[in-house]
Amino acid sequence: MLIEQIPVLRDNYVYLARDAMTLATAAIDPSVHEPVLERLAELGWRLTHILNTHHHGDHVGGNLALKEATGCTIVGPLADRDRIPGIDIALGDGENFFLGGQRATVFDIPGHTRGHIAYWFPDRAALFCGDTLFALGCGRLFEGTPRQMWESLLKLRGLPDDTAVYCGHEYTQANARFALTIDPDNPSLRQRARAVDAARARNLSTVPSLLADERATNPFLRADHPGVARAVGLEGVDAVTVFTEIRRRKDVF
Ligand SMILES: [Zn+2]
Repeated sequence: MLIEQIPVLRDNYVYLARDAMTLATAAIDPSVHEPVLERLAELGWRLTHILNTHHHGDHVGGNLALKEATGCTIVGPLADRDRIPGIDIALGDGENFFLGGQRATVFDIPGHTRGHIAYWFPDRAALFCGDTLFALGCGRLFEGTPRQMWESLLKLRGLPDDTAVYCGHEYTQANARFALTIDPDNPSLRQRARAVDAARARNLSTVPSLLADERATNPFLRADHPGVARAVGLEGVDAVTVFTEIRRRKDVF
């Protein structure tokens, strides 16, 4: 499976995923349509599908124009099917979707929105997780509770080490600055924050990241780590409470 990254708007990423055998081609979370059509034309690819993770405008804004232009099939979250423009196929937790010969397993990961899903392509070790898990961060809780988000993140945390995390935004540098306030003594985090600064200084993307690196350095995946709990003054307290405090601090950072 081939994957292309298209930076759009201020800091959004749209992805194209293509099954090289069947030529089935999906746009993941197309916030806009023109840059997607331009890249498809450059590559000589024909769009067959849109995969949406959640209903926010900067993830579905290009749906109808792309469907109009290409006749593609739109796939999105069952729990939010009424808020996904042009949806044809609605999927829920544990269901499989085939992009040609490429199997994706869907996870329900509510918290950022009520009906957020992720698409995991195990044979390509690729995870498209929208605004739930970011490089060194997680999405804001617009429609869900901290407990829901923590449980959603635990589902993603359990995927294999080599999983490439294709998230919806380039937020990594700001996330790194925050992460260092929560987990300042974590040498892996300090090293990663330096690498992120170097990449951004050259205007390079920091996405995708590796799940193994997220597990080692992302404070939102480490709320059950004693050092992180201690750092926010909640030693011995349950992970949901620690997660809630980290998320609260990020909201006002
Ligand atoms: Zn969103």
